[in-house]
Amino acid sequence: MARRSAKLVKFNEPFQLVTDDIPSAPPGGAVVKVQYTGLCHSDVDMSKGEKINYSLPLILGHEVSGRVHSLDQLAVNSDIKVGDRVMVYAIRGCGVCSRCKVHKPTFCLNRVRKTIGFTEDGGFSDYLTVADLSLLMRVPETVAMDTACLLPCSGLTSCNAVLSILPTVKEFVKDHGVPEDCAVLLVGAGGLGLWAVQIAREVLPDGIWIVCADRDPEKLAEAKAMGCDEVVLWNEKETKDNLIAATSQACGRVGGAVAAVDFVNTSETFSLIESVLIWGGIHVTVGVFGDTASLPLKSFTVHQHKAVGVLVGTQQQLRELLKLVEDGKVKAPPITHHPLESAWNVLQDLRDGKVKGRAVIEVSEPCE
Ligand SMILES: [Zn+2]
Ligand SMILES: [Zn+2]
Repeated sequence: MARRSAKLVKFNEPFQLVTDDIPSAPPGGAVVKVQYTGLCHSDVDMSKGEKINYSLPLILGHEVSGRVHSLDQLAVNSDIKVGDRVMVYAIRGCGVCSRCKVHKPTFCLNRVRKTIGFTEDGGFSDYLTVADLSLLMRVPETVAMDTACLLPCSGLTSCNAVLSILPTVKEFVKDHGVPEDCAVLLVGAGGLGLWAVQIAREVLPDGIWIVCADRDPEKLAEAKAMGCDEVVLWNEKETKDNLIAATSQACGRVGGAVAAVDFVNTSETFSLIESVLIWGGIHVTVGVFGDTASLPLKSFTVHQHKAVGVLVGTQQQLRELLKLVEDGKVKAPPITHHPLESAWNVLQDLRDGKVKGRAVIEVSEPCE
């Protein structure tokens, strides 16, 4: 038996399909037989070698589900067993600081970040080495494995973003009394935006007004189908003033958004959101490869905006999200399956904005 991987050997050049030996489990860790690996926008940026330092060759892919193939001797007494259906939380911190000890590695006090598919080999490979068993979370039989691979990254990121606006939204609804006037603006109706629409419906107060903005009318139609109340087309040819006016109108009677989550994260979207937030509104930015925006400090202060950066989320939030999916309250965006050989081509489609919903690589035969 051998391992098959799609490896990034040179930036901007197609993955090389390589075959080598199946790895053995590292001390205290496991090897997962990968079934599905999601393709993420950060993979696009990684493949271009821009904006981040890491070394090649590297197997990308950080949205992984599969079955436990082998466990190290030190790990045989854990509750994770060989054969378990699992999804993989990709991030580790230093492992010893107070935040890492409570499984919040994105807040590591020692500023250590090791990530599967970024700093170590990832899931575009049929066998994945996992350094620490606490990164594995069991997937209930009722949750499909192609959905499961998306939960620890795109699903969790969206969940964290929605949870981070919850206090501001609640306070507004309490003060104002009319939930329908509480507009939440979600910018970007790709995979993350579609998760966010549904999660917002479940975890934010009943009756709030959810607006989606995107430059692609087809994606907006999907967002509408997923349950958002209003959509607004952010057509690049339109003037900024017109986009601001259209968005304010879409937000309803108050004429502005109480909270906005930016899944696109460019200087243009940042600036538009700053223009449509109400005084005291909250502005959440998502996406590790966002470009540089300038913050108008005077209006930011005078309008008392809150700015929050969201990076993935915690394992506790992942458990909450898994429960919502298990209970049928939140569904994965439409998923398309592709073989490992097509990973590079699908990545180019993702770069060009041609992927609707979420694309996943079916790395090995279904095991459900
Ligand atoms: Zn991702
Ligand atoms: Zn730490």
